[in-house]
Amino acid sequence: HIPVIHMITPTYSCWTQKADLTRLSQTLMHIKNLHWIVVEDSDNKTGLVARFLKKCNLKYTHLNVRTKKELQRNSKEPVWRKSRGVEQRNLGLNWLRRNHMTMPGKGKGDVVYFGDDDNTYDIELFDEIRATRKLSVWPVGICGGLRWEGPVCDDKGTVVDWHRSWAKLRPFPIDFAGFAIKLDVVLQFSTAEINPDSRIGWLESDFLSQMVQPSDAEGRASNCKKVLVWHTRTEKPKTKDEERLIAQGQPSDP
Ligand code: UDP
Ligand code: MN
Repeated sequence: HIPVIHMITPTYSCWTQKADLTRLSQTLMHIKNLHWIVVEDSDNKTGLVARFLKKCNLKYTHLNVRTKKELQRNSKEPVWRKSRGVEQRNLGLNWLRRNHMTMPGKGKGDVVYFGDDDNTYDIELFDEIRATRKLSVWPVGICGGLRWEGPVCDDKGTVVDWHRSWAKLRPFPIDFAGFAIKLDVVLQFSTAEINPDSRIGWLESDFLSQMVQPSDAEGRASNCKKVLVWHTRTEKPKTKDEERLIAQGQPSDP
């Protein structure tokens, strides 16, 4: 029996959404026993995402929750001011808990991974995710203001240090893309949640600290010598000309 990877992906409506989802889904098509939990940041499930998921041939669950008003970032605020995808990841976690509660033993061996829609994933990463015993960690490329951020290991995979440049007191100085956790642990600590009020940069640490300790972390990806996931970001497109067309009542045919 191959453990299932439950990958939780927040996503929101924007011009680049379908491009990001297409790239990600075509990575995931290479992965066996993957359950893609796609959580839209919206009041209702959109037709775009519903149609997209239906035709992409992956095992998926489609959910939605709109980020609360006070947590939404307006376009003039700097991106680091507010965290994105928090309520969506929490909904994914709680869906997993609800759907495993009544069936003891179901999901034994399964693993949970948070994968944003605009990151870049080597398909080898999913072997590392699947091998998770309690908590796995690995470096994330282009992250934390560095070429890469994350664990430093000895040759047994024991984490001996963390390579990071800021918020150095974080017990888990890693991005959401830099760890995977056993579903069992998420079910056992059934109230563990990502807190949108965590200090900036501390989301991952505050979340993981509710369930595990740094000494539980096993370094993977060739003892953390390899980068298998990159925190790439999709550039925000210029919209000025489209806005002019909209003002003239002649927007591009959607
Ligand atoms: N996201 C969201 N609502 C938003 C903005 C982003 O659900 O208003 C999602 C986004 O699709 C991504 C995750 O949350 O999967 C993290 O957002 P983003 O990639 O913009 O953050 P960054 O990588 O810049 O930290
Ligand atoms: Mn991103």
